[in-house]
Amino acid sequence: MIDTHCHIDFEEYDKDRNEIITRAKDKLDAVIVSGIGYESNKGVLELSNEYKNFIYPSFGYHPVSSQKCSEEELKLTHSHLIENLDDIVAIGEVGMDYYYVKDKALREKQKEIFLTFIDIANEYEKPLLMHVRDCEKKALNIVEEYDNIPYVVFHCYSGSKKTAKRIMNHDNYFMSFSTMLCYSEPHQELIRNISLDNILTETDSPYLAMTKEERNEPVNVVNAVKKIAEIQNKDVETVDRVTTDNARKVFEI
Ligand SMILES: [Zn+2]
Repeated sequence: MIDTHCHIDFEEYDKDRNEIITRAKDKLDAVIVSGIGYESNKGVLELSNEYKNFIYPSFGYHPVSSQKCSEEELKLTHSHLIENLDDIVAIGEVGMDYYYVKDKALREKQKEIFLTFIDIANEYEKPLLMHVRDCEKKALNIVEEYDNIPYVVFHCYSGSKKTAKRIMNHDNYFMSFSTMLCYSEPHQELIRNISLDNILTETDSPYLAMTKEERNEPVNVVNAVKKIAEIQNKDVETVDRVTTDNARKVFEI
C-alpha cells in the first residue's frame, strides 16, 4: 500500500514526525511527499534522504500560492527542480485551482505557471502530479496536448464522471483517491465506475481527515483502500495489489 500524496514535511508534524513515519512503515510500502514551493521542495528532499527507500519526494509549486509567485522565485524553483531531477519521482504538486481562485487574471497566471512545469515534465519525461480543482476538464485538455509526459496523475480527483471517462481512455493517466472517500458521498458515487487500473491512493495529510479538527496521517490510506474495495465489491487484497502496482509503475519505486 502506498500513500501517493501527502505533506508530512509540514510543521504540523514537527513534534511527532518520527512516530507518524514509524506507524506508516508498519503498514505501508512507501510514501510520496509533495513539495509545494521552493522552500518546501528543499524540505521534502531532506526528509526523503532521512528515510531512503520509504519516503520519496516530488517537487512542485502549489497553484493557490503560485499567484503570488515572483519571476525570480519561479526561476529558482525550476533550476532547483532540474538539478534534482534524478532524485525526485514526479513533478508536482502543480496545477490549477478554480475553487480558491476566482479572479480571471490570477487564473491566467496560475495557468502560465502550470504550463512551465508541464514543459519540464514533457521535456525530461517525468510524471506530472497535478492539483486540479473545479477545472478538471480544462487541465485534461491541456495535458493531452503533450506527447512525452510518461504519466499524469489527478491528485484527489473530484471532477465529473464524464471527464473521468476521458481520463480512463489513457493507460498512463491516473486518478488518485483519498481518505475523503470514507465520508464524501460524491466521491463514493464517483469511484463506483472507475477502473482500478487508473486508480492511485493517497491521504493528502495533514488534510482530509475524518473530521475537520483531526490531523490526517499516511497510515490512514488503509481506510481509502478498504472503502474502494467495499464500493467496488472487491476484496481488499486485490485493490491493494493493483493500486500499489500502479503507484510503483508511475513513480518507478
Ligand atoms: Zn497536496
